[in-house]
Amino acid sequence: MNNKELIQKIADEDIEYVDIRFTDPRGKLQHVTVIKDEVDEDFLDEGFMFDGSSIAGWKSIDQSDMKLMPDASSAYIDPFYAEKTICVHCTVHEPDTGERYDRDPRATARNAEEYLKSTGIGDTAFFGPEAEFFLFDNVKYSTAMNKVSYEVDAVDASWNTDAEFEMGNMGHRPGIKGGYFPVNPVDDAQDLRAEMLSTMKRIGMKVDKHHHEVASCQHELGMIFSTLVDQADNLQKYKYVIHNVAHAYGKSATFMPKPISGDNGTGMHVNMSIWKDGKPIFAGDKYADLSDEALFFIGGILKHAKALNAFTNPSTNSYKRLIPGFEAPVLRAYSARNRSGCVRIPWAESPKAKRVEARFPDPSANPYLCFAALLMAGIDGIKNKIHPGEAMDKDLYDLPPEELADIPTVCASLREAMEELEKDMDFLLAGDVFTKSQIEGYMDLKWEEIYAYEHCPHPMEFKMYYSC
Ligand code: GLU
Ligand code: MG
Ligand code: MG
Repeated sequence: MNNKELIQKIADEDIEYVDIRFTDPRGKLQHVTVIKDEVDEDFLDEGFMFDGSSIAGWKSIDQSDMKLMPDASSAYIDPFYAEKTICVHCTVHEPDTGERYDRDPRATARNAEEYLKSTGIGDTAFFGPEAEFFLFDNVKYSTAMNKVSYEVDAVDASWNTDAEFEMGNMGHRPGIKGGYFPVNPVDDAQDLRAEMLSTMKRIGMKVDKHHHEVASCQHELGMIFSTLVDQADNLQKYKYVIHNVAHAYGKSATFMPKPISGDNGTGMHVNMSIWKDGKPIFAGDKYADLSDEALFFIGGILKHAKALNAFTNPSTNSYKRLIPGFEAPVLRAYSARNRSGCVRIPWAESPKAKRVEARFPDPSANPYLCFAALLMAGIDGIKNKIHPGEAMDKDLYDLPPEELADIPTVCASLREAMEELEKDMDFLLAGDVFTKSQIEGYMDLKWEEIYAYEHCPHPMEFKMYYSC
């Protein structure tokens, strides 16, 4: 849809409001709602002024004016508002020069798409994220938060803290790693997930399936792959729909990476492939039917994984997921078979479906920055022919210590990720896709989170040290 068609749609479908949406550096969708009488082609061409100083990590108060440029191709009717409203995702521009604002994540994602073309490696990168999430009952959630929720046993891990208060019948509740995937009543969120998926379809997203995930109360919905900016937009819609359908059911959805200790965490595997002139460049005759380009792409991802963690795993909680034993990766290795390394090559029927799956990202990531950073690492790998070494076709969780010692790991904390990003950011700056000032601004935000977390006494410390 272009601007003209959007104006036509607003008139044809009696739309009352236009919701202007954009994403802040931490990845949260923000919005402002404009009545339709104000929205004409000039409005869409010229953009909407707003106060950028109220967004953490953006402009200071003395230079706060910024411009939101709506992208009509992202438009969708809001499925939740009472008044008929069309939503449009925007990029942020400088009001004077009209250039894209370098700290706007969607602008960075657009830069990354353009950079790929400029390298001649390919013209299109496809992304297929698999964002998992947990659904908790609102009341149970707060009860559990107030309780010492780190004490995990079969009851706590399934978040059935009500059992201790009400002594309900727990017979059909999935236990640790018991969610994947018996039918109802063990799976008690079938209707809720179906409503989420149907809502996504109704707003124009291409979706294919939904299922319970491995942990108790954990779920996943499937989106069809798409191009970088479009798919990052889709991920924002995905989260929006999931949060709001859950809310309508009196539930609370969370994408935090490790809400429950002792059971699987929440990942966001990112499947990627590059195409040139309508042909997939990742299919070939090397390991797992990959091309040299695909292997070098993996080499780039593995080489820069620790710096990437700053964008792919950007919360202090992310590193509680990246531990052995829960299908999340720790080691910087790749394989066609096992799920314990950072990169897997999923089985693909045809060369068109050949792709590389990065398994370390999680959905606390800002999707625009996460996908752009992954692409930049992969492009760096291809440009510099970084071979990823031999594939590791064994269960990496069970390796003997002497073999483990030789394999590099991902970061163990957000602090480490920031230190690594500081040392290794040149691959992101290529083609001015990311800027140094943008990365510094992003790191300032993350350091705030690190200090808040590190300076806060943890419930586990009370358990371990209170009586010392
Ligand atoms: N929940 C797992 C993770 O943390 C992934 C499970 C799966 O393979 O889908 O990455
Ligand atoms: Mg999954
Ligand atoms: Mg996967």
